[in-house]
Amino acid sequence: MNDKNIQYAQPNDEIHQPPIKGEVPEGAPDLQNPVSKKTGGAQPTPMMAQFFEIRAVNPGYLLFYRMGDFYELFFDDAEIASRALGIALTKRGKHLDQDIPMCGVPVHAAQDYLKKLISLGHRVAVCEQMENPAEAKKRGAKSVVKRDVVRLVTAGTLTEDDLLDSAANNYLASLAMIQHGDADFAICYTDISTGEMFFCDVSAEQLSDELARIEPTELIVAEQTHRFIIQNNLLPIAFSGQLAVQSADLFNSEAATDVLHKTFGEAAGPLLGQSRIVRSALAAAISYIDQTQKGAKVPLRLPQRAGEKLMQIDAATRMSLELLRTNRGETKGALRATMDKCITSAGSRLLSARLSAPLCDPAAIVERHNMVGDFFDNSLVTSLIRQKLKSTPDIVRGLTRLALGRGGPREMLAIHAAISGAVELSQELIALDRPSAGNQQLIDVLSNAPKDLAVQIAERLQDDVPMLPRDGGFVRQGFDPELDEFRKLATQSRQVIAALQARYADETGIKAIKVKHNNVLGFFVEVPASHGNKLMVEPLNQTFIHRQTLANAVRFNTSELSELQGKITHASDAALAIELSIFEQLRTIILDRTSALQELADALAELDVCVALGQLALEQNYCRPKIDKGNAFEIKDGRHPVVEVMLAKGGKTSFVANDCDLSPKDEQVNGALWLITGPNMGGKSTFLRQNALIAIMAQMGSFVPASAAHIGVIDRVFSRVGAADDIAHGRSTFMVEMVETAAILNRATASSLVVLDEIGRGTATFDGLSIAWAAVEALHENTGCRALFATHYHELTALSDRLDRVSNHTMKVREWEGDVVFLHEVANGTADRSYGIQVAKLAGLPTHVVERAQEVLDILEKRETNDVASGVAQLPLFAQRRPEPKPKTDNLLQNRINQINPDELTPRMAIDLLYELKKLSQKHAER
Ligand code: ATP
Repeated sequence: MNDKNIQYAQPNDEIHQPPIKGEVPEGAPDLQNPVSKKTGGAQPTPMMAQFFEIRAVNPGYLLFYRMGDFYELFFDDAEIASRALGIALTKRGKHLDQDIPMCGVPVHAAQDYLKKLISLGHRVAVCEQMENPAEAKKRGAKSVVKRDVVRLVTAGTLTEDDLLDSAANNYLASLAMIQHGDADFAICYTDISTGEMFFCDVSAEQLSDELARIEPTELIVAEQTHRFIIQNNLLPIAFSGQLAVQSADLFNSEAATDVLHKTFGEAAGPLLGQSRIVRSALAAAISYIDQTQKGAKVPLRLPQRAGEKLMQIDAATRMSLELLRTNRGETKGALRATMDKCITSAGSRLLSARLSAPLCDPAAIVERHNMVGDFFDNSLVTSLIRQKLKSTPDIVRGLTRLALGRGGPREMLAIHAAISGAVELSQELIALDRPSAGNQQLIDVLSNAPKDLAVQIAERLQDDVPMLPRDGGFVRQGFDPELDEFRKLATQSRQVIAALQARYADETGIKAIKVKHNNVLGFFVEVPASHGNKLMVEPLNQTFIHRQTLANAVRFNTSELSELQGKITHASDAALAIELSIFEQLRTIILDRTSALQELADALAELDVCVALGQLALEQNYCRPKIDKGNAFEIKDGRHPVVEVMLAKGGKTSFVANDCDLSPKDEQVNGALWLITGPNMGGKSTFLRQNALIAIMAQMGSFVPASAAHIGVIDRVFSRVGAADDIAHGRSTFMVEMVETAAILNRATASSLVVLDEIGRGTATFDGLSIAWAAVEALHENTGCRALFATHYHELTALSDRLDRVSNHTMKVREWEGDVVFLHEVANGTADRSYGIQVAKLAGLPTHVVERAQEVLDILEKRETNDVASGVAQLPLFAQRRPEPKPKTDNLLQNRINQINPDELTPRMAIDLLYELKKLSQKHAER
């Protein structure tokens, strides 16, 4: 099979797109007929005809076609899926004289396979049997079972816990664009698993930052928008979401009013007053959800405007500060993982959302600090609440599954547990001494949890229930007398069976006779093979009808067992039907309370986050930052929250705390710019990052790793630390550095915090120095922001004489016996050198290279002209004087031999010494 024929998204493809109406790219496969190239034009079998029909209306999706206990995939789908999943590709029958490639996955394990396919960038259409084969047969022996697609599974529309990261939101975003010379955008993003829905307007310049904040797993766009954002490079670096190009009709703002009305009813009012592109983005997201859920209603919440009064953090800064993930894409080692002391996954999700979007409104930030402060000040309440939260489940995703018909009795019991937990938690919270306004609100919501609903659930459901409603056995004894009757019948039948077995043993004289049950035969009698013949002759063959002979046993049926089978089947079918109707009734009762339950879930998540931040502050000795509107940035004994924990785990050194004061001095309005010089490995990058992180932590509502902190609200944080290339977008290391520096210089304001590490390192020395020089001047003169600027260009320190808000600072080191000891202390002043060669030596550069480098450095430092080459050329050539490797000597042995004075040795001492030297020599050999 030629890969050109594969019409589905492949992993790492830039775009995974179903065909766009009226526009079929040249050379594209025929999406309406996945087998057209192979089959010519003859008639397919009825089942294949059904398959083609369903397949044609779901282009761009792998079709999971239900066949009994399996989902089967055919033709190209089978080839793609078997390769992606590592499962066998077989064939099922022939179509027009050609084998039909096929692979299948068992229904009970489908979730795992779906997860893998989705994570590889595929999209799946799940096609179920809509009737059982017996019903189909009524229409004629050759009738095909009715099938239909019940759900389109895409990365942004997942609802199952198994398919989702419990600690992160899974956003589906729609992007609408309006072009009038410049382009303006609106983004709607929604997590259908929790029902949350937000929207924002953004300019082309802000688009990449917003997408970096939201991190959608799937982004739906119209073709024109798609072309524009790709051509103009508007996606954030390392964007990993799936791009789903959709028909422009989906973004129709005229139809939006209708869509919004249908979804939110009266409450849609304020949304209708939003701009056309916002309405278009909202409607596109809702319509896409409808398409993928095939009409099942997701409990979407009224969309909220997002992005206002949020601290702006661009994609490069997010990466360099490693907020949610490290540069390697791992969650471990990132700030989120260090800060996350949440007990519930809903709490962890909220923490991630807050960390991605710190606030800019001092009053809102202070209120969050107040809430954390209540728990910081009351460690007893904190520990009691954390204990209780352990038995308070995350209900919001379960609620969505119930609404979509994918939830079971366990989701219902979780709601019961959450309501009971909420009431108990509200009682613990009352112990807080004068709680903050925010915590008081939480107490109100928790104490008003819908207790009557918990009672209704408890009345109906047992304490231990199966996952799926179809398994039955979950309704509490005593709730429904009719159900209890049928259950009794089933229990009694078991007693009847035991009696029957005893009677058969008596009548046949076969003690080993057993009455058993399986799904194929129903109830049957089984005897060991040696007794089989006895039941097959007169008179016993009148009672026992032969059904099956196995290697060790023979199986029979009897009329009594058949009758019993009928009764039991009827009783358990009737019991299950009653249970299912009770389940449905309870589902409706629960869904009627959706908004109260969503409000409760939000309150529980918020409580978890505030308590967790209080706990973090207690454990890590953080302080409450002072936040106001000014331009202060004064951190006392600041620490890097992640490096500090890592050093503590390593147990070797402890973190050295450092002050940082960028506050305006005297009559000034603008903040200061610190130029930081110092040795490699001295701790410059750590110091820079820790201050940016402290600002983000403070504004997201956390206490901070310092003994005191005063921060005037920062509107944007920019951090450029270290170098990286972006080969995928054709940018060299230096180009990336310059693009990021340009973004900072163009966009930083007087209220921003800029953290720049080693600007201009990726080019010739003088070019780099000149760029760094000009950048410092621009930040000082034009922007006037608070800034930390680390550099190895010591020449820059001269700027502090000319620019009044620039001051010089350095990382202290001590030289000891030719080596350098890093003190990690920030002091006033400048570094005299960078100790690069000492650090290179520590890193294990070969000795001869280190020595040679030192020689070159000595010449360079003494030179009077800038002609570096002529000075160095006077040195002997490197290759000619590569030192011979020194012979390895064992110092202990050598030292001992040196100590010996043969004239002083008695014969006895000489022989002892000989043994001692032999031992030392053996040790040397073993090493
Ligand atoms: P370079 O100029 O080579 O990039 P640098 O000056 O930026 O180096 P960092 O990368 O910040 O140095 O720090 C090097 C290492 O020193 C860190 O990985 C950390 O382990 C340790 N370190 C940094 N700051 C401190 C500190 N304040 N206390 C203890 N250890 C620290």
